[in-house]
Amino acid sequence: MAVRKVVRMGHPVLRQAARPLEPDEIGGEPMRRLLADMIETLHDYGGIGLAAPQVGESVRLAIIEIPGGPTRYGDIPEMPLTAFVNPDIEVVDPETQGYWEGCLSVPGLRGFVERPQHVKVRYTNEHGARGELELTGFLATVFQHEFDHLDGKLYVDRLADPTLLSFEEEYLRYLAPREAPHVDL
Ligand code: ZN
Repeated sequence: MAVRKVVRMGHPVLRQAARPLEPDEIGGEPMRRLLADMIETLHDYGGIGLAAPQVGESVRLAIIEIPGGPTRYGDIPEMPLTAFVNPDIEVVDPETQGYWEGCLSVPGLRGFVERPQHVKVRYTNEHGARGELELTGFLATVFQHEFDHLDGKLYVDRLADPTLLSFEEEYLRYLAPREAPHVDL
């Protein structure tokens, strides 16, 4: 296992549509190695989600791990580390809500993005088993952000208003909702 370098906005791999993993690749040694590296990288960088293109691998694999409890996003439910291979996301209810999103590939910045708050996700796990999840609220935003990486999209493409993009320090000083606790995830 190794901590990989997270590539940053401007690297072309972040703008490519990633390819699906073939059935015979799922659970195979190269995928298991990549997954182990992604988990170590996520923990080292201190994020809640990471997609394979962010470590330079253009395949449809992402991981999400949410510690839960009070965070800068409010009180959010915990989600143990889960791997998503070739995920599909379907909007159940198009009504949107906005959050200040950050991204390991866009370090130091935060931007306000409105996304649907009720989605359904179908995926394959790292052992090849099919899974389905229904997500609401902040979790729906997290999943859409991560899976956007598999389509070559970044949250900055989806800013509700181009003026709502800020450096972290100025965000905390001027823009963060006063009632929201600020804990780094
Ligand atoms: Zn991201």
